[in-house]
Amino acid sequence: MTEWTLTIHGGAGGITREVLTPEQDAAARAGLAAALVAGARVLAAGGAAVEAVAATVIVLEDDPAFNSGRGAVLTSEGRVALDAAIMGGDRRAGAVAGVTATRNPVALARAVMEDGAHVFLAGGGADAFSAAHGLEQAGEDWFVTAERRRQLAELQAKGADAFDVEMKYGTVGAVACDMHGHVAAATSTGGVTGKRWGRVGDSPVIGAGTWADDRACAVSCTGSGETFLRAGVAHAIAARVRHLGEDAGTAAQAVLSEVVALGGTGGIIVVTPAGDTAMRFSTRGMYRGTVSSGVAPYVAIYGDE
Ligand code: ASP
Repeated sequence: MTEWTLTIHGGAGGITREVLTPEQDAAARAGLAAALVAGARVLAAGGAAVEAVAATVIVLEDDPAFNSGRGAVLTSEGRVALDAAIMGGDRRAGAVAGVTATRNPVALARAVMEDGAHVFLAGGGADAFSAAHGLEQAGEDWFVTAERRRQLAELQAKGADAFDVEMKYGTVGAVACDMHGHVAAATSTGGVTGKRWGRVGDSPVIGAGTWADDRACAVSCTGSGETFLRAGVAHAIAARVRHLGEDAGTAAQAVLSEVVALGGTGGIIVVTPAGDTAMRFSTRGMYRGTVSSGVAPYVAIYGDE
């Protein structure tokens, strides 16, 4: 039996060797590997899965190669509006949407979980909770990169209704099972380029983009948020594992097929309390990686790896 295991994603989409420069490829792999190291350190020391997924996602949030925290995509107004969620297998959960001033949104989601009064905080209220709880604050100079400004300008040049459906720059997520057989999941994103109207995707929605239950599995998603919301993806996978007895890969594939049938696209990572893990995506690629006790880390991007 696996002592502990950690699986991560850094977004799914039209990611091919033709699309990425060698520099982008190398930067993404280095970022994924560093995130695995951070989470594995927690798990190897006997730490909790919830601690490990938070530590892992913080590394990815700080890495401008991914669409979360620093380097998040920009709203139609050129700002960041960050979404994140975390959940433990004991079904304690915390989530935030549209936050603008917390360096690590996953840490804020965790603070909401630890506080315990609420599960989901949004907008200015979530920013105020963050400041009141002493989380590290950051401004535009930290979050906004030249590349994301360029992407927004490119999208806006296509017209006001343009919507980024390519999603080749990724949301990040982690799922883990610790030595004690507990699972946890965390997801963090800037959402989609050019978003308006306070749009929120699946990532911070407990049961859609993020879910954990020690009776079934932990799940983190990336992809077309609107369809992932409509399919209730993360909870649906856990329900199949729990009630139908499906293995993680079978359940993830079945629900991903529902997303595709609804016109969506994306990727899913799953870990069970027995340490089984699955990575499934309907796109050309998904930034992803996994590491377990006694097994060397694996990092991949393209569909054929
Ligand atoms: N699912 C995210 C959202 O809709 C985007 C992504 O995964 O890249 O906000």
